[in-house]
Amino acid sequence: MWRAQRALPKYFRILNGEELPNFHYLKRIKVDFEEDEDISELWKLHDEALELLKRGKLNTMGKYTLLDLKLLIARKMLKSCILCEFKCRLNRERSIGYCRVKNTKIVSYFMHMGEEPELVPSFTIFFSGCNFRCVFCQNWDISQRTQGIYIQPRKMARIIDDAFERGAKNVNLVGGEPTPNIPYILEVLNHVTSPIPVVWNSNMYMSEEAMKLLDGMVDIYLGDFKWADDKKARKYSKALHYWKVVTRNFLLAKEHYRVEFLIRHLVMPGFVEDTRKILSWISTHLGKNVRVNVMFQYYPCYRASEYPEIDRRLSYNERKEVERIVQEIGLENALVG
Ligand code: SF4
Repeated sequence: MWRAQRALPKYFRILNGEELPNFHYLKRIKVDFEEDEDISELWKLHDEALELLKRGKLNTMGKYTLLDLKLLIARKMLKSCILCEFKCRLNRERSIGYCRVKNTKIVSYFMHMGEEPELVPSFTIFFSGCNFRCVFCQNWDISQRTQGIYIQPRKMARIIDDAFERGAKNVNLVGGEPTPNIPYILEVLNHVTSPIPVVWNSNMYMSEEAMKLLDGMVDIYLGDFKWADDKKARKYSKALHYWKVVTRNFLLAKEHYRVEFLIRHLVMPGFVEDTRKILSWISTHLGKNVRVNVMFQYYPCYRASEYPEIDRRLSYNERKEVERIVQEIGLENALVG
C-alpha cells in the first residue's frame, strides 16, 4: 500500500479527510451565464473559471457554479455528440450513437472488492454501451448490448452518498465506457454531497472537448492503455488513431486540476514488445512514479476465438519477460501480475 500512497498522495489525503474531491471545488466557483448563450461563449466562460480554480482563486460572485456550466455545455454537446473521438455528431436526444448509448442506462452498481487494493471498497457503477468493439471484451454483454435502466440523477446521487456512508472509498465510473454518459455523471455529481473521490475508469478515447469537461471533475484517471500499434487497435478494438488519441489524452489529463493516475495495461499474448513501448511511454511522459497496474489476467472470451493469435492465455515466459521489462524501465510503483 505504501507504493500506492507514494503515487496517489492527494487521493489518500481525501480519504483522510484532509482535502476535498475536485467536484466540490467546482461547486464553489461561481459563474454567470445565460442558458441560451452560444456554446463558444460558454466555453470561454468555462475556461476562464477553470483557470481561476487552478490559480486557487475561488470566485464567489455569480448565480451558477462551474459544475452547472459544465453540465450545460455537456447537454448542448449531446445535440451533436462529440463526447468521444468518434465524433458521430448525432443528436443523442433522438438517436443511439455508435457507442449504443442514447439515454444513460445503468446495468448495475455495487461495492467492488476486486479492484486495486487502494481503491477497495470501490463503489462501482456499470454503464451500458461502449465506443470500442474489443473482440476479447470480458464485459461484452453490457458493452456491446443495450441493457440496464435509467436512474434519476438525484436518486443516483443519494445512492452514492449512502455508499460513502457504508465505507466506499470512491465512486468508480465504468462500463462499458463512461464517456458517452458525461452529461448524466455531471448531473449526478451536482447532487452528491459526500466527499467521495471520483475515479474515471475508461478507455481514454475521449474527445478534447470531453477532456475539458473532465478537468476538475475527476480525481483519479483509472485509464486503460491497451495498444501500442494502431493496426492492432483497429483490428481488435475497432479504434482509429488509437496511439495519437490516447497519448494525447494522458498528456492533457496530466495538466488537469489536482489529478492523479492509476493506469491499467492488459498484457496481450504474443504482444510483449507492445507492452514495452507502452510502459516506456508512461515512464517518459508521466514519470516513473506513476501507479501502473500491468495485468496478466487476459483470457480469450467473446469473439477472441475468431483470432487464433490471441486465443490463448499468456505463457509463463511472457509473464517473466514482462516482469523483467517493468524492472528494466524502472517503474517504481507498478503492480504486476
Ligand atoms: S460518445 Fe462517441 S460514439 Fe457515442 S455518440 Fe458520442 S461521439 Fe458517437
